[in-house]
Amino acid sequence: MQQPVQRNVNRTYHEIGLPSCIEEVRLCVREFGERELAPQVITMEERPEEAGSFPRKLFERMAELGLYRLPYTMTEGGCGLETPMLATTVVMEELAYFSNSVAVIYDCQCVLAGRVLQYSSDDLKLTYLPPLMSGEQIACVAITEPDAGSDVSPSSVQTVGTPVADGWSLTGHKRFIINAPVADFACVLCTIEGSLSMVVVDLKNEQVTVSPPDRKMGMHACLTADIVFDGAFVPTRNLVWQKGKGLRVALGALTRGRIAVGASGVGMAQAAFDLSMHHMKERRMFGKSLAEMQHWQFRFAEHATHIAMARDLCYKAALRHDEGEEFPEPETAMAKYYGTQIAADVARDAVQVFGGYGFVSRLGADGSNFSIERFYRESKGPEIYEGSNEIQKWMIARRMFGS
Ligand SMILES: Cc1cc2nc3c(=O)[nH]c(=O)nc-3n(C[C@H](O)[C@H](O)[C@H](O)COP(=O)(O)OP(=O)(O)OC[C@H]3O[C@@H](n4cnc5c(N)ncnc54)[C@H](O)[C@@H]3O)c2cc1C
Repeated sequence: MQQPVQRNVNRTYHEIGLPSCIEEVRLCVREFGERELAPQVITMEERPEEAGSFPRKLFERMAELGLYRLPYTMTEGGCGLETPMLATTVVMEELAYFSNSVAVIYDCQCVLAGRVLQYSSDDLKLTYLPPLMSGEQIACVAITEPDAGSDVSPSSVQTVGTPVADGWSLTGHKRFIINAPVADFACVLCTIEGSLSMVVVDLKNEQVTVSPPDRKMGMHACLTADIVFDGAFVPTRNLVWQKGKGLRVALGALTRGRIAVGASGVGMAQAAFDLSMHHMKERRMFGKSLAEMQHWQFRFAEHATHIAMARDLCYKAALRHDEGEEFPEPETAMAKYYGTQIAADVARDAVQVFGGYGFVSRLGADGSNFSIERFYRESKGPEIYEGSNEIQKWMIARRMFGS
């Protein structure tokens, strides 16, 4: 484990007006991160991507800490916070500071899948929300297909529900689905009679096959895989909301997801920033430290500013959502693209400022570990998933230009 370094956030950022309960959530997750998550990250990320490598104990600990209940009302069995999205945003920021794999596992479980279920009937909610919140069941959200990622219009989505007695027979193929190798159920975007619809599918169904996990450039502890439906029966009650509401439900879930993913970018950026600050103060050359060189002072002053701006955007989008705005745009798109972009930007500079130590994960000579290259690899995925950053810019531009 790389030794923890001093956090710099209090020198470069001041929160204004966040409820005190949010600070409690932050401290709880930070303590979990420092004590339980950080010591496991290296081992977790070095394991080959197999179903058995899912960090189940950490997943269960997050359930014990009540983290999966944060997004929900008391009636739904949740925490009933006044600002649930803000709480979730802070959780994502704090988890990603230690591990973006664990952050995105959390995101899929209760931010994305949980939000889909909030659009569903009370009956469906009663079946799936309690085990989701208690961590007894693992959820995933399956939107992407081999030939439909950014474009999920009805003509692109090839997963089809054909009407049969008391439900639908589902046929199709989903790709890159986080948690799929270990999930109990999936929220699946499909077409039913030509219109986009969302259904909940039991993955233990015999007509469902989940492929072995993908091998990815980073985030190895979070597993993605294909899911194939070969005439899987979906009962009528497992339709979310109504036929034809699939895109609205998907965008509703992705709205929360994008704020959360933006916040994960902020967390990763802050972590790479803190490690870099520490290194710059320690590393000496030409009679002074890197921290005394104006080039790096300016670079990291810029990064501090960008991180503060991204954090504000995430909190603002979250607060607008908590105030009742279903799609708080353009802040959501801005938060997602900007938060994830700065994570990649800070990580790239962090590798540079660490020199050779930024490029190695472990020194052969003494076995010491370095995590900067991991942040560099992990920060790339969030620029792509939950709506690539080009799609986010398109959404912002549409508000400006109308098309
Ligand atoms: C680690 C990881 C986890 C994922 N988890 C999930 C999951 O849990 N569930 C799920 O459903 N999906 C998941 N995905 C899929 C992800 O959402 C898609 O990869 C993403 O939406 C992009 O789709 P695509 O890969 O098909 O790329 P494409 O849609 O083929 O896009 C290729 C490139 O074209 C760009 N592009 C698209 N439209 C425009 C435009 N109008 N202007 C300019 N450029 C454009 C894109 O930004 C991208 O850079 C995951 C992906 C990754 C990498």
